[in-house]
Amino acid sequence: MADDQVLNAPWLESSDIRVVFDAFDKHGLEIRVVGGAVRNTLLGRSVADIDLATVALPEQTIEIAKASGLRVVPTGLKHGTVTVLSGDKSFEVTTLRHDTETDGRHAVVKYTDDWAADAARRDFTINALYCAPDGRVFDPLGGMADVQTRTVRFIGDADERIREDYLRILRFFRFTAEYCFGAPEAVGLAACSRERDGLLSLSAERVRGELLRILVAPRAIEIVEVMFDHGFLASLLGLVAVPRHMQRYVALEAALGAPADPVAHLGCLAVFTTEDKSRLSRRLKVSNDERRILADSCSWRDISNKTSECDLRRQMYFHGADRIRRRLLTAWARSGADSVDARWLGLWREATMWVVPHLPIHGQDVIDAGVPSGERIGKILKAVETWWVERDFKPDRTAALEYLASLTATDLRLN
Ligand code: ATP
Ligand code: MG
Repeated sequence: MADDQVLNAPWLESSDIRVVFDAFDKHGLEIRVVGGAVRNTLLGRSVADIDLATVALPEQTIEIAKASGLRVVPTGLKHGTVTVLSGDKSFEVTTLRHDTETDGRHAVVKYTDDWAADAARRDFTINALYCAPDGRVFDPLGGMADVQTRTVRFIGDADERIREDYLRILRFFRFTAEYCFGAPEAVGLAACSRERDGLLSLSAERVRGELLRILVAPRAIEIVEVMFDHGFLASLLGLVAVPRHMQRYVALEAALGAPADPVAHLGCLAVFTTEDKSRLSRRLKVSNDERRILADSCSWRDISNKTSECDLRRQMYFHGADRIRRRLLTAWARSGADSVDARWLGLWREATMWVVPHLPIHGQDVIDAGVPSGERIGKILKAVETWWVERDFKPDRTAALEYLASLTATDLRLN
């Protein structure tokens, strides 16, 4: 079914995508843009990646692309997806398909040349919009109307669609958090609630990916609250979540112009102790970097509105500025103080303005002072560092060398 709407977007005119369109056109095989690129253009949002759908079989896609001098990577052949590289862009080209067998996590796919069947296997009506190379929009399932009212609506029977792939529960919340204004679509929300336990069958990687995107979406705050109210956070995280802490963290980031950090949001939401951190890290199989960010949520007690600037600097020196800024925001969010609280603002200013200095002497200075190489060098360097930190990093190199000389004099006498 064709709609009157014609997309007019710079990405549709880029030579990279035109080369791909022309390659398929030469073989008389239809290809269209589908999913996020069409949806986001209609919503006036930016387009990150471009997914293409075609009647060509995956092997044909590979041949067609190669014949036009394009490189291909068989990224998801099992599901009919080939990545085609054109210029500095990559396009995921997927053969039209419908899913024949599903088990809540995986699907067995069958290729088709029926655009409506391909649309019907997708998750939401707003994700089943296609755009031909000439810009014409194809809307077989009423996605355009839902784009206009910003409604995330399951295609077909919501319970059935969720049982085919439980990740759709999280995608429902993610798209609602990204694009909608009001409450989540009621039929979809009720189905998600009924099927909630299915989330436990998903792999940690899939859950983590969607969850982190929800936590930085424009309406993360409202949707996290809905997820909490309906019991999703307890089953997903296995921890007690406190949405208002994350809400304050997000509000502080926005008020202070700090970049939104999804893992820090997650930490502030549900990580209070090292035991929470370990449990969540295992459950979501987080990376080492992410684990460190979660650890900052349980070290929040090291900072309070009673912390002195001097102590804050000391913490920044030993743990790194990034980590202390995260701990500070977590402590601030959990304290309940607002974003214009003078004491917290003063600490924040210090945490963002102060440049962590380097100890003004090095191992070579200790050797030059006559200490024979070996363990003693490290010990003496450490003693100078402690003295320098206690003096709030003020002593300069000359003063530090003098102190080193006084230390080594005693040290050499003792040895
Ligand atoms: P974004 O790229 O912003 O995440 P998108 O809509 O492009 O949004 P993708 O995950 O890139 O989302 O998927 C591309 C398209 O594939 C979707 O628009 C949707 O039509 C379909 N799709 C992806 N995942 C699923 C799923 N789990 N169930 C059904 N359809 C899906
Ligand atoms: Mg996409």
